[in-house]
Amino acid sequence: MNHKGLLVVISGFSGTGKGTLVKEIMKKYDNYSLSVSMTTRSPRTGEVDGVDYHFVTNDEFEKLIKEDGFIEHAGYCDHYYGTPKKFVENELNNGRDVILEIEMQGALQVKEKYPETLLLFVTPPSITELERRLRGRGTETEEVIMKRLSRAKEEAVYMDKYDYLIINDKLDECVTEMNDIINAARRVPVRNIEFIGDIKNQLDRY
Ligand code: 5GP
Repeated sequence: MNHKGLLVVISGFSGTGKGTLVKEIMKKYDNYSLSVSMTTRSPRTGEVDGVDYHFVTNDEFEKLIKEDGFIEHAGYCDHYYGTPKKFVENELNNGRDVILEIEMQGALQVKEKYPETLLLFVTPPSITELERRLRGRGTETEEVIMKRLSRAKEEAVYMDKYDYLIINDKLDECVTEMNDIINAARRVPVRNIEFIGDIKNQLDRY
């Protein structure tokens, strides 16, 4: 697969603010496309179909699995979540960098299928801070907070599979840092095979 754009996956513990980060990076820079995932969970208040997610039934989701319509899909808290292939392929082929905000099982599937993918993991500076943020929302019950923290424990096992950690302390700095990392990643030789081939061809004259 030789895409012109870079595929960027962002994962992170629940409560790290990765959603806000992604929104900010989309606002600040115009070279990114954000993939809208498909899910079988119900919309939350304020969520818009086609913007936050494509909300579908189980049957619709399973039909698309059979048609090989997903880059990856995973089960999370009793629901399906998946990344539709068509949009991502089109955008990458048009030279746009595509951001997927997905959980870890999906992230690792993507990396296996498309090894040139850049995997970023967003983490708070400490678990004390994560707990403070989860409680600070004031919307979650103690049981849910504990569930998210124990899920974070499971996910931490795979943190070292990621290419970069983004420590989300100050939002502004974090957005700039993420953009810098993505820019640097574009220059890694394995992501520039065509360019290298071209340079080598030019050198054949000597
Ligand atoms: P939520 O239900 O809170 O919107 O999302 C739950 C989890 O599913 C989050 O960790 C989110 O990043 C992840 N997620 C959202 N879309 C996808 C997707 O298309 N594929 C995978 N594997 N995970 C997703």
